[in-house]
Amino acid sequence: MIIFKSINKLKEKVNIMANIGFVPTMGSLHKGHIALIKISKQRCNKTLVSIFVNPSQFNKKTDYRKYPRNLNNDLKILKKLKVDYVLVPKIKDIYKTKKQMKIKLKKKDKVLCSKCRPGHFEGVLGVISIFLKNIRAKFMFLGNKDFQQVYLVKKYLGKKFKTKIINCKTIRFKNSLAYSSRNKLLTKKYLNNGIAISKIIKNFHYKITKDFSKIKEIENIRYKISNICSQIEYLEIRNKNNLTTNINKKNFKIFIAYYLGNIRLIDNF
Ligand code: AMP
Repeated sequence: MIIFKSINKLKEKVNIMANIGFVPTMGSLHKGHIALIKISKQRCNKTLVSIFVNPSQFNKKTDYRKYPRNLNNDLKILKKLKVDYVLVPKIKDIYKTKKQMKIKLKKKDKVLCSKCRPGHFEGVLGVISIFLKNIRAKFMFLGNKDFQQVYLVKKYLGKKFKTKIINCKTIRFKNSLAYSSRNKLLTKKYLNNGIAISKIIKNFHYKITKDFSKIKEIENIRYKISNICSQIEYLEIRNKNNLTTNINKKNFKIFIAYYLGNIRLIDNF
């Protein structure tokens, strides 16, 4: 495993490789990340994982500061997985060029997280475009846990780069809570609340698949969840193909963002 601390050093090496799979992460690796890495390893000759807590996608400084970081442990995990290349760039290395792609979201895409976290996805799309411009991977693997992220990356960057964007399923604990780096910040009580919330939504999803008219129960669900979390930022059912509210039995997806104390979690079923 070769660790690169600068994108330039990595650049020459990866540019010449034909079949590279890229897994961008913010570190604090868990089974969700590991699943993406394993898929990349199966499909590609070489796998590159980046670890970069991207400041431009945090709309609150405190959130950026308290984001969990554990580089030594991450490197151990990556070594064990026999990852070929790891990129751990410095902030100034990523943001040194003024010619960064500035992406403006269309009004219709300002829903869910992009409505609640202004500038967040502009930051995500910005850093991913810097990566793809330099790395030219054949595939990039992203998780459906961040469903809107995959949707927007495909929509805004899909045609700009040759890299094929592959979305992979959300990995969950047996109790249905999705793996997330932010879970590490939760107290036991909050963790149990998170588990309960994911079970409520999972069951609600199941009910709707059996009888679509049950979507009208969303207000009961909202009430139930509001009793076991600090704040629901959004709970919405949207069309998974275009994120509009034009939904039917086949295309619906439930999206939630909520707070447990001051920890913000998202999920979708
Ligand atoms: P992050 O480090 O949170 O920025 O996530 C890096 C990548 O891992 C993103 O593509 C996420 O969607 C993906 N990811 C995070 N959690 C999970 C999960 N539980 N299952 C699958 N993919 C995940």
